Parts: sequence; C-alpha cells; structure tokens
Amino acid sequence: APTSLPPYVAGLNPAQRQAVLTTDGPVLVLSGAGTGKTRVLTTRIAHLIATRKAWPSQILAVTFTNKAAREMRDRIAALVGPVAQDLWLGTFHALAARMLRRHAEMVGLRSNFTILDTDDQLRLLKQILTAAEIDEKRWPAKAVLGAIERWKDKGLTPEKLAGDAGGEMAGGRLVQLYADYQERLRTLNACDFGDLMLHMVALLQKEPDLLREYQQKFKYLLVDEYQDTNTVQYLWLRLLAQGHKNLCCVGDDDQSIYGWRGAEIDNILRFEKDFPGAAIVRLEQNYRSTPHILAAASGLIANNADRLGKTLWTEVADGEKVRVNGVWDGPEEARTIGEIIEDLQREGHSLAEIAILIRAGFQTREFEERFLTLGMPYKVVGGLRFYERAEIRDAVAYLRVIAQPDDDLALERIINTPRRGLGDTALANLRRIGRALGASLMTTMSQVIGTDELKPAARKAVAALVNDFDRWRTLAAGVPAQELVETILEESGYTDMWRADKSPEAPGRLDNLKELVQAVGEFDTLEGFLEHVSLVMENTTETGAEQVTLMTMHGAKGLEFDSVFLPGWEEGVFPSQRSLDESGSRGLEEERRLAYVGLTRARKRAYVFHAANRRIHGQWVSSVPSRFLAELPPAHLEEENANGLVGSRAAMRDGGYDWQVPTANTWTPRRQPVQNVTLTPSHTQVASRKIPSVNVGDRVFHQKFGYGSIVGAEGDKLEVAFEVAGLKNVLAGYVERVS
Ligand code: ATP
Ligand code: MG
Repeated sequence: APTSLPPYVAGLNPAQRQAVLTTDGPVLVLSGAGTGKTRVLTTRIAHLIATRKAWPSQILAVTFTNKAAREMRDRIAALVGPVAQDLWLGTFHALAARMLRRHAEMVGLRSNFTILDTDDQLRLLKQILTAAEIDEKRWPAKAVLGAIERWKDKGLTPEKLAGDAGGEMAGGRLVQLYADYQERLRTLNACDFGDLMLHMVALLQKEPDLLREYQQKFKYLLVDEYQDTNTVQYLWLRLLAQGHKNLCCVGDDDQSIYGWRGAEIDNILRFEKDFPGAAIVRLEQNYRSTPHILAAASGLIANNADRLGKTLWTEVADGEKVRVNGVWDGPEEARTIGEIIEDLQREGHSLAEIAILIRAGFQTREFEERFLTLGMPYKVVGGLRFYERAEIRDAVAYLRVIAQPDDDLALERIINTPRRGLGDTALANLRRIGRALGASLMTTMSQVIGTDELKPAARKAVAALVNDFDRWRTLAAGVPAQELVETILEESGYTDMWRADKSPEAPGRLDNLKELVQAVGEFDTLEGFLEHVSLVMENTTETGAEQVTLMTMHGAKGLEFDSVFLPGWEEGVFPSQRSLDESGSRGLEEERRLAYVGLTRARKRAYVFHAANRRIHGQWVSSVPSRFLAELPPAHLEEENANGLVGSRAAMRDGGYDWQVPTANTWTPRRQPVQNVTLTPSHTQVASRKIPSVNVGDRVFHQKFGYGSIVGAEGDKLEVAFEVAGLKNVLAGYVERVS
C-alpha cells in the first residue's frame, strides 16, 4: 500500500515508482528529456541501500561525466548518508580503469600502467607506421588511429579481426599495424582510453572465475545516458549483468549526441533482445520545462527521421514562449544577452540559474569580454577561459615581446614554440649568460649572435628569431594590430604548428586563434589590446559568488537551468560546417539532437540567437539563419527581428553562403595524463621525460577543485595547492596545465 512506501518514493509518479521498485531483473527506462530518468536512478540506488538489497560497494552505477557522478553521489549521500562513498559510481572510463588496475598483470600490464593521451597515441603510431614503411602522406597516422579506435569501440581486438578487415587502408596491413600498436603499448606498460574497456571485456571473456567474482560482487548495475554507450561498453555491462540480470539503463534516443565518438544508438534495441522480458518503462511527464519550451523542442526533433518517437507532457503552468532573437552581429549578440541577463538579475533571478550553451569553444570569447565589461561573474565549465587557453597565451606572448622586448616570461614561453632548436640547454645557457650580463633574454640573444657562446645550430636559431622580432617590431609601427598578429602567427610558424597537429583538439585551437585575431581587431593599438588582456586575466571571479555558466551543449547534457541562452544558430556554426559537408543526414540529425538537448536544458526561459553577420578573418560576411530555427513551431515562439527565418532554406539553395566559417568543433574537456612523473626525494621537483609534462610549481586547472599549483608528485598522482579547495591529491591525468 502506498502508505507503507518509503518517503523517498512518495514524490515519484507511478511510472517512476515502478522503475525504482522493480529492483530485480532488467529494466530499461526510455524517455524524453526532463522526465526524471536521472532522478529515478538516484532514488533507485538509495532504495537498494535503504532496503538492504545491497551494500553500496555492491552497486555499480555509470554516469556520463565525472561531474554527474559527483552530483549523483551527493544526492544519494543526502538520502542514505556517508556510506554513499562506497558506491562504484563514475564514468565508464573511471570504473574500467579502477578495475583494470586490480588485474593489470592478467592483460600483460603492471598496475601502475599509464593512460596515454591522443598526442602520445599519435606519436607511437607514427613510429609504427615508419617502421612498417607506410607512406604517411597517403595513410596519415590520425586516420589509422581513428580506424583502430573504431574497432576498439566495437570491442574488436586484433585477434578477433580477419587479416584483411582493414580493406585497402594502409596497404591492406591495418590489422597488423593495430596488433603492433597494442604490442608496443604493452611494452610501454601503457594503454589508451579505448583499451580500458577493451582489456576488461577481453579479460572477463577469458577468465570465467574472475567474471563470476564480479557478477557476484556487483548485485546491481545502473547506467545513465544509456543512448551514448558504445558497443564495448555494452558488452562489458552485459558480461557483468549476465548472472542476475539486475541491470537498469535509462536513456533517450533523441539525446544521442556522441555518434562521432562511436556511440551506438542500437544498444537500445539490443537491450530488449539480449534481456528478454525486460521491464520497459516509459516516463512521459516532463518536470523540467514549461509547455512552450517542451513543444518547441518536440517540434524540432520531430524533423529527425531516425527516432523511436515519444510523447511528452507537463503540468507546469504555461510560461513564456521561446524567444528567438535576430541580431546584427556577434558583438550585438553578446551585448543583448548581457542586457537580458542584467534584467533577469534585477528581477531577482540567480546567476547560477543562467547558462549560455554554445556549439564550439571559440564562441565563449565574445561573451567573456562582455561579462568582464559588465562586471558579471561567469564561469566556463568543461574548459578554460578564453585567455587562459594555451594557444591564446602563446599568441599573446609573441605580442608581449613585440611591445616589450625585455618581457622574459613571455619570450621564454614561445622561444621554442613552435620548435626552432632552442631547447632547454640553449635556454639555460642564455639565462646564465644573461645573468652575468645583467641583461634581458632578448638583449642576451642579440648579443650572443656572432659569438661562440652557443652551439652553431642554436646560434643560428637565435639569430633567426631575433631577426624575426626586429622585423615584426618594424611592422608593428606601420600596420593595424590585427594585421600584425596575423603576420606573426603565420611567419613564426605558430599557426602551422597547429595545422600540422592531427590531434582532435587542433581544429578547435585554430578556431581560437582566429577568434583572437578578431579580438585584436577590436582595439586600435597593440598596447590597448595587451592592456585589455592583462585586465581580463586579473579579473578572476571571486569564488562563492553566483556565476553565469558558459559551456558547450555537449557538456550540458543532463543538466538544467532556469534560463538558457542558445547563441549562434547559423548555418555552418550550428549545424556545424562539418555536419553539413558530410553526405547523408546522420551528422545533421545528430546536430538536431544536440539542439534538442540544448533547448531542453531550460526550465523557464529559452532564448535562441542568430546574427545576420559574422566577422570571419576580419571580413564581414552575412550568415544564414540555422535551419533549426525554421523547424521550431511558430506557435511557441516569440520572434524579435527574426524575419526571414522561413527563407533560410531557400537562401541556402541559392548559394546564400559560400564563405568558410570556423569549423564548429566539439570542445570537450581533455585529459592529459602525465608521463613518467617520478618523485624526487626533496618533493620539490618532478622529473618528466616525455611531453606533455607538468612540474612542481605549474599552475593547473582541475575540473572539481579549480585552479591551483603543483607542490608535489608521486606516480600518477599530484599534490596540488588549490586556490579555493586547499591541498588535494589529484590524478595527474585529470588536470590541465594552464601556464
Ligand atoms: P535528461 O534527459 O535531461 O537527463 P532526466 O530524464 O534525467 O533528464 P531529471 O534530471 O532526472 O530528468 O529530472 C528533471 C527535473 O525534474 C529535475 O529537476 C528533477 O528533480 C525533477 N523531477 C523528476 N521527477 C520528479 C517528480 N516526480 N516530481 C517532481 N520533480 C521531479
Ligand atoms: Mg538525466
């Protein structure tokens, strides 16, 4: 009887209750945004613990991000107390890494194995391609790696593949190269992210005793955002659940936005096949958004052909329509959004309940500058603030040296970036000489030219660099600052360095550099710009204050805010140029799902923006409103200056846009594992042989604790003094160096 129900289920609707109380056997909750899927999972875990069906350590729950895991743990702790700490709760990667460390030996690794990042993976693969005499021009390492990763996503080890499974690629030797790559990883006692799952699945398949042990250990398995699991993750879950079949997955096919990373929406269909008799629960009541927001999002997603389809309703009162704003250009977009936020603030709304959700990282810049002008606290979630990004700091360093040749800190930052043969030894020599001379680095460099103080190669490099800077300084006197930056970035080889970089982040960094050139264009002089940058950098928001959130739509999955701003709804930005260039509709449908995710983050207010003009490479070009705008049902919109939306398709057909916009790359937090960090007795120095490396004293950014500096290191752990959180031990792989 309902009266005997525990208090935590009292507030749930009947379908949610069913999903919570059907503890045993397979359960699939397939429902739209905001219907309480995540809430069901949290309550279910609390219920399992409260009713003693399992100890927390016997429950394994998978979330999509570390942030989501933390939030879920906090909520469960609020319901059941500190025992929530014992849950196996985290992302697939985190959970698999934790398991694999226990059994590393069984897959030919040692438990202190390193997890490689993309740069390391590519470097390794390049060596293998060279050794195999594969023409890298024809078969770039990046493409080969992509193919290998796709196999890994599918759970395919080299042994499981037919020798010719790679087709023509890499001269028909792809499978062999894959095997070589795995072999090399073992020798290095390393694995990549894909391996974490792959090794665990292979191990569990091979070792029935171990599998049984885990099947008995984990009495209940739960998965959030199930629509974004890939095949190997699915296989892992299926293995673990095989005995008791107590597997509960919640998801929404309309929110599948990681197909580009190997997610298989078919896992939803597979579930019903592999777990016959599974309880299928559909939640239809949306608790998050107002009817207009819900109807707008539903109308939009209805344009996708490939979906399971569902109904959503809400009891929430009518509320405001979705506001669609047409603005003249990017700066006006930022200005208008800033004004609306100020209005909301005046009306008493908390900044913590306001988010700007973007498609690609470069889009944050305009908003950040506007907020700094307004003195509006903000945070960039899932990434660094614009001017703290490595490539921006590098570029700014070049400019600082132009403005102030004795700025040694700036010069040291870029003296060998891109590589020009001025390594640590040369730099140490220069410093020593400089100290003796009492001169700055630049002066020292000018002075050593023509001496034997440096080795010939370094001397030549120094002469070239001094010469470059002299030329740029002369140029600075005669051309606008913007032109100067463009020239420097090109002539120094800095942009080329990123063009040659095949890592997934490189295109985003190039977009950021273009955005920087634009930013400089907003100032009359180089000095004016640099002044601005130092003010921006100084302005670190006081913590604890309420802040506006700036993040990507990808990163916002699962979250909710009272007010959501969605800027840049223009063809080529959103949907991204890449999705438009693709043949077929897969990419475009995924973008549309992303739009659905974006809109459904809003509880009360959603504002969609599109600008008529964007300045690309210093030139104004007119942009075409996103087709998604035309797909929003007009009855639920309130349009401001948004004329011409309906014409957007026609304009596209007529070739209304033929300019290149920055590729809207997804901008996801990047893990940079630190290689070979060893502890020195003094605890004062981190020896590091490989790149990327961090050192004691480095300033780092951590997803949870924010900014801090490294004070010690041991193995893959760092001791960091965080500015707000205090002294913490963190995984080296989860921090990013910021300067
Ligand atoms: P998404 O698909 O975006 O991940 P979701 O289905 O996981 O959404 P939740 O985040 O769990 O949805 O819930 C959305 C909001 O509705 C939350 O604020 C949650 O607390 C609230 N909610 C869920 N169920 C109920 C309920 N029965 N009564 C009141 N509020 C609820
Ligand atoms: Mg959710």
